[in-house]
This record gives sequence, structure tokens and C-alpha cells, in this order.
Amino acid sequence: MKPTPVRAPRAPFAAFAVALAAAALLALPATPLRAQARPAAPARAAAPAIADSAAISAAVARVAPAMIEIRHDIHQHPELGNREVRTSGIVADRLRALGLEVRTGVAHTGVLGILRGGRPGPVVAVRADMDALPVTEATDLPFRSTVRTTYDGQDVGVMHACGHDEHTAILLGVAQILSGMRERLPGTVLFVFQPAEEGVPEGEEGGARMMLAEGAFRDPHPSAVFALHTMAEMPVGQVGYTAGPALAAAVEWRAVVHGRQAHGARPELSVDPIVTASEVVLALQTIHSRNVSPFAPSVLTVGIMRGGERLNIIPGEVRLEGTLRTYDAAVQDTIERRMREVFDGITRSAGATFTLEFGSAYPAVINDRALTARTLPSLERAVGRANVRELAPATVSEDFSYFANEVPGFYFRLGSTAPGTVSGDHHSPTFRADDSAIPVGIRAMTTVLLDYLGGGGR
Ligand SMILES: [Zn+2]
Ligand SMILES: [Zn+2]
Repeated sequence: MKPTPVRAPRAPFAAFAVALAAAALLALPATPLRAQARPAAPARAAAPAIADSAAISAAVARVAPAMIEIRHDIHQHPELGNREVRTSGIVADRLRALGLEVRTGVAHTGVLGILRGGRPGPVVAVRADMDALPVTEATDLPFRSTVRTTYDGQDVGVMHACGHDEHTAILLGVAQILSGMRERLPGTVLFVFQPAEEGVPEGEEGGARMMLAEGAFRDPHPSAVFALHTMAEMPVGQVGYTAGPALAAAVEWRAVVHGRQAHGARPELSVDPIVTASEVVLALQTIHSRNVSPFAPSVLTVGIMRGGERLNIIPGEVRLEGTLRTYDAAVQDTIERRMREVFDGITRSAGATFTLEFGSAYPAVINDRALTARTLPSLERAVGRANVRELAPATVSEDFSYFANEVPGFYFRLGSTAPGTVSGDHHSPTFRADDSAIPVGIRAMTTVLLDYLGGGGR
């Protein structure tokens, strides 16, 4: 067994090609690392040290074991988006016990915690997402999930297959450390525990956009927002970041191919939506290869193809659903137009009809360049300069973009695969974020927030 390999293509274009190939294969994209050397970060303006690295490390060592236990508990009791009732209850209880002002029920199950420091200073927000995924866990972790639920009409397993259990535990650890130095803290920290990052059940609202609509950033209003996310492709101990555009815009789409139902032995009486939908799925693959510049990254994935109740009945309709990822609005428009044309042409030739709807897109995550530059020295101090890696933009998307569109934002990745072990990709049944990433995440985020506050938010 060896650590999850980290890809290091020679050029950004190769990086994209690898990312897109992986995305097409796995339906959840990879984030390759750039091989070229990163320019040295600009020197940080001297800021009054609130806590030195040794003090932070000691505090992390004190809180980490309890946070790892919380992580195990949350992992064993995963909850889907907008259903994070138990998880948000644990979060709210702990924040109250730390003496924070707590607001619950934000965007259904979201929790806000406000820590007001003893000295004047800026307001900084930090976000963790809490939701799990409809994935049946296939790890051998002693605290693995066996939870099942009904999602979208189907019986499914529920699993923290994207590491949000670790994000929640890490941010609780950060809250504990910072609340312990409250008197020395120059400013206010707004802790945002967000539901439904992975999306909401059909017909529901939720996530970052709904938290903002319900005033998450109104009072107090932060001047910057930070978040971290586990990364299976990177070993524990490393962190990664991308300056500028970091994660893709994502739009969900849903289609139905309507045919005519018939006996499975009498196809001549049918308009077979299974065959027609199959042709559509194959034709969709040519949009990226034939209609979009090879230098414009995009991913079009069909994640659901569902039709039929019985093996000897040709069904009346087939549902297709998927996700479209781009970094450029014009490319997104082209692909949406071509998708309509493909559906139209193929269903027409088969004598079928179709509906196709696009949901609202998650915007791309753009890391603020100035905030990125001033935060890098903090990350380097927290994990060591050699362990801070610049990453190529990834095709995953994140509704953190809504927060980062309100105020300057910085989102970084936390290596989560223990050296010597193998993790499946995010969203897969064998994804395994290691406990040892938790203290690294707590140290990194605590350092970032303290430096931001100590620098006066400028
Ligand atoms: Zn995810
Ligand atoms: Zn995630």
C-alpha cells in the first residue's frame, strides 16, 4: 500500500486534461497539482502576535482528541442536506458551552456562532459544511456509517463521503481554541455551520445562498470569509490553494424522455425511451469534444438514468439528470444550447418528446487574490512552507462561492489521506478522511484567523 498518488502534470493544460478525464470517469473531479514552483509569498506586514506557533500547537494538542471523538460520532450518524438536525444540535450545544452567541435554524438547520473578542478589531467569518451524501459506506473504519434513508424515492445508504464530518469537528476545535483566548482576541469571529452544501432535495431551498438570504452576514458583517475542504488526493500534513478562479460553476439539469409504453415483446407498438435516452447520453459526449474549444474546460456528466419497472415492459419515459461544470459563462451557454439541440434532434427522430430544465448554477469559487497573498504566510507558518501547494483550478464546485461573492473569500484544501493508506475519491463509498487531518486543519485555520484579526483585517 502506498499513499494516494498526487498527480503533477507539467502544464496547466495537462492538468485540466487530467482533471477532466478523471471527472468523466469518476463523475467527481480531481484536482491535480501544478508542478511549477510557486513564487515566494510577499512578506507579511508585521502584526502583533496574539499567539505564537508553539502556543497554537499546544492548544491544538489539547482540543484535538475531543474533536476526533466528535468526528467519529458525526461520521456514524450522517445526515443529508437540510436534515442535519442531530449534527447541528451537537454544534449548537458546544458553541453555547463555549460562551458564544448562537443562532440556530438558519436555512433550516444552519448554526451561527459569534465570538466577540476582548479587544476591538475586524469581523471575520469562517465556514464549515455539515451535510452527508446518499452513498453506502464501504470502508472498514470502526466508526463507519450503517445509516440508511429514503432519498429521491430510493432507499440509500448515508455517508460522510466528502469529509464534512471533519470540517465540522475542525471548526468546533477552532472555536474552542479561540474562545479560550477571547480576552486577547482583537475582533469578532463569525462561525458559520452550513447545511446542504451538496445540494438540497428537489423542491427545497437551502445552503449558503439561503443562509445569506436569512441574514447570516448581516450583523455582524464580516470583512472576509475563510473555509477549508478535505482533499483525498493530498496526504495529511499538506494544504493546497488556488489564487483566483479555484472551483467551477456548476449547474444541475434534469430531463425526461417521453416515449410510448408497450409490451416488451411488442417493440413495434412502442416508442422506446430507453433506446432514445441511450442515444442522447452518447451524443452528449460529443458536445465537449466537438462544440467547445479544447482550451475551455468543461464537464457534462449524466449522473442519473432511470426508467422502467419490469423487465418485459418497455417503459413510457426515462429520466436523465446530471451536472454541467464550466468556468466561463459563454461556454456554459454554448453547452446548454447544444444539449437542447441534441435532445431535440434525437427524440424527434425516434418519435419521442422531451423536457429539459436547468437549475440555478452555483457560481465559480474565486479566491480573492489579495486575501490569498496575505493568507499564504499564515498557512506556511501553520504547516511548513514545503507543505503548502498551489493547485490548478478544479472542476468540483462549492456553494462557498455565495459567501465569497459577498465579501473577499479564501478557500483552501486540507490533505486528508494518511500516508501509507489509500482513500477512494470524494463521493465514493471508499472515501476515507483520516483523523490525523483534524489537528492539521485546526492549526491551519486557527493561525489564519488569528493572523487576519491581528493584522486588523487589512
Ligand atoms: Zn462533496
Ligand atoms: Zn464537500
